Amino acid sequence: MAEFANIIIDISHEKLDKTFQYRVPKRLQTELDVGMQVEIPFGNGERKTTGYVVELTDTPEYDVEKIKEIYDLVEGSIPIESQLIALAGWMRKNYGGTMNHALKTVLPVKQKTKEKKQRLIQLKLSRNKAEEQLALLEKKNHKARARLLSALLEQNPIPYEAVRGKLNITASVIRAMEELGILGVEEKRTYRSPFGDLKREESRLILNDGQQQIVEQIWQEWEQQQYHTYLIHGVTGSGKTAVYIDLIERVVKSGRQAIVLIPEIALTYQTVVRFYQRFGERVSILNSKMSPGERYDQFERAKSGELDVMIGPRSALFTPFSNLGVIIIDEEHETSYKSETIPRYHARETAVERAKMAGASVVLGSATPSIDSYFKAQQGEYTLLNLEKRIEEKPLPSGEIVDLREELRQGNRSILSERLKELMADRLEKHQQIMLFINRRGMAGFVSCRACGHVLKCPHCDVALSQHNNGKMVCHYCGYEEAVPQICPECGSKYISGFKAGTQKVEEIVKRKFPEARVLRMDFDTTRNKAGYENILSAFANQEADILIGTQMIVKGHDFPNVTLVGVLAADLSLYVSDFHGAERTFQLLTQASGRAGRGKLPGEVIIQTYSPEHYCIELARQQDYVKFYETEIAGRELMNYPPCGHMMVMLVASGDEMTAALSAELLGKKVRKAQDDGKISGLSVLGPADASVAKVKDIYKKVIYFKHADYQELVRIKDVLEQFVNGHREFAKVIIQFDFNPMNGF
Ligand code: ADP
Ligand code: ZN
Ligand code: ZN
Repeated sequence: MAEFANIIIDISHEKLDKTFQYRVPKRLQTELDVGMQVEIPFGNGERKTTGYVVELTDTPEYDVEKIKEIYDLVEGSIPIESQLIALAGWMRKNYGGTMNHALKTVLPVKQKTKEKKQRLIQLKLSRNKAEEQLALLEKKNHKARARLLSALLEQNPIPYEAVRGKLNITASVIRAMEELGILGVEEKRTYRSPFGDLKREESRLILNDGQQQIVEQIWQEWEQQQYHTYLIHGVTGSGKTAVYIDLIERVVKSGRQAIVLIPEIALTYQTVVRFYQRFGERVSILNSKMSPGERYDQFERAKSGELDVMIGPRSALFTPFSNLGVIIIDEEHETSYKSETIPRYHARETAVERAKMAGASVVLGSATPSIDSYFKAQQGEYTLLNLEKRIEEKPLPSGEIVDLREELRQGNRSILSERLKELMADRLEKHQQIMLFINRRGMAGFVSCRACGHVLKCPHCDVALSQHNNGKMVCHYCGYEEAVPQICPECGSKYISGFKAGTQKVEEIVKRKFPEARVLRMDFDTTRNKAGYENILSAFANQEADILIGTQMIVKGHDFPNVTLVGVLAADLSLYVSDFHGAERTFQLLTQASGRAGRGKLPGEVIIQTYSPEHYCIELARQQDYVKFYETEIAGRELMNYPPCGHMMVMLVASGDEMTAALSAELLGKKVRKAQDDGKISGLSVLGPADASVAKVKDIYKKVIYFKHADYQELVRIKDVLEQFVNGHREFAKVIIQFDFNPMNGF
């Protein structure tokens, strides 16, 4: 029940922050909400205009006397913009940031850039006439004109660029022929088809019983307008994509639309082709290579009813379909679904909210569901559906764990264990391919013992401590620190150190050991651009190399039928990131990595090298026992109140001045703790302040404070109070604060 409403008049305008404030009449106060379309007086003549409510507030922005009153609500059908603005309102509330940040995320802004138009040269004569003309031109020896005309007789129309370029015809020749009425130059607005000139062959799979059952269940509920969120747990190759396609087809036949979210890195040609073959030009894709203008075009097509299906990464969620029926999120566990810029939204949660507003179902799918989603399924919030078997019942590759501590005892200090070297030699001899994988995530600065595998952890937070240059180890949640020990506190060995291994180093070692092998390396250095990435993958797919060495990037979604050996060089690297998701990420990575082996006719093998062979995550990943992993992991989260068993919010306190950052964080931490002591907040735990995992970026000093509470909305409330406090006090003028809810990568 707010007194004032901030209203946006022109949503296609570049300045989405251009809002106007109006008074809410008493009779509308209970009804009015963010996203609603209203009639308002506008400009000097008080012309009646429509606008959208983007914010409700009790704080007038200027002289109260001068604030005009809203006339009325706009009756009738609700435009898609209303829904998206309401969604932006929900995002702002639940993830922080300003309404303008949120609006910019959900509404693509019209670009000033020129519309993409294609110029085409079109033959204006009948075939007979054109052939007569051609004979005439040849007789007169007008070579250029004849060349163009004969080309037009073969292909009509021809793009202007091709005529100028490939045919080497000057603009004056084209103009002259145009004046003679032989041809015309036409401009056509083009939406570049994301499919190029792909041939469409309708193909249809007969679903097996397991797939059929899943489609039927979702469909029956959908038809009865019972819209739910479903989680399909099925190993890679169990036929999830086939299920999505079948379901979408039914939804589309009922006149509604579908959004399919796929992590960009998994947005492979093969996947896109499968959708294209079923839906043809009524499906489109978004990707990060597109310019804002191109993205805008695709959204316009969706709004105008030209499309039924949109496929893309996170941001495709905001496709303005007016009658959305289903949202699919494939590989729902992927961290790329969480935005790392404001608003720091999670696409899964936001999808559930959008679906609620639109009256649509959500289908999540993964071989290794996020602990969050599986927890929600256990709680009955999502409906769990299992796809047990691989299509054609191809066996999963067999896994073997190699204990690196044992290797050290045997005197092998190399990153390649004896067992792995033996198998590599065997595969090279058989001309089969090998993938070596280092699960390196950012800066894994943990300290461990190579003799006994002991990892130094925070005594309060149960996450690995990170090594800093000053010889100390620090906890990034609570700020606890201690000196790096000289000898292992567990076994007394001196082999205690930070963990270092890079793809480049591994490449050197492999080349030295197997000089005859052809080796490719894929990491952030060799794939600065997307082409680099695709070139390496296609070279490996064409068997131009025997061994592919790489980071996370190589394990996602690619099919290399000749790969029969996958080596995970140090599973510990992702296990001991200073974040409670370590085991979850490692389980996912190991499962994906082993999914790379044995895709073709030959069976595959996976070698997992680790200093922690007894860690439940490693052993259960080898056994491919997701459910057991989930049960073990959730018990640990429960104990520590980590999400999903509770909620977490991190506040970033940043400043260009080190002292200011530290003092402000200290002060804010104290303020919250005092509110706790005064009994104003209960059930909250406060950790920190601590240095952010990267404490200084571009001369900005970063501190973090973590908050844990069972109730998400309570954290939202604390965020609002802190935000107001900081905005209202001068001493914070040089301080930036930001929030992240249930962080995945943190600050
Ligand atoms: P996922 O998405 O779970 O990895 P896909 O849907 O991609 O699984 O299926 C894996 C492979 O099996 C694909 O090549 C697909 O064409 C094929 N496939 C899926 N369902 C069937 C089916 N019912 N009959 C035959 N082949 C199928
Ligand atoms: Zn030790
Ligand atoms: Zn700690």
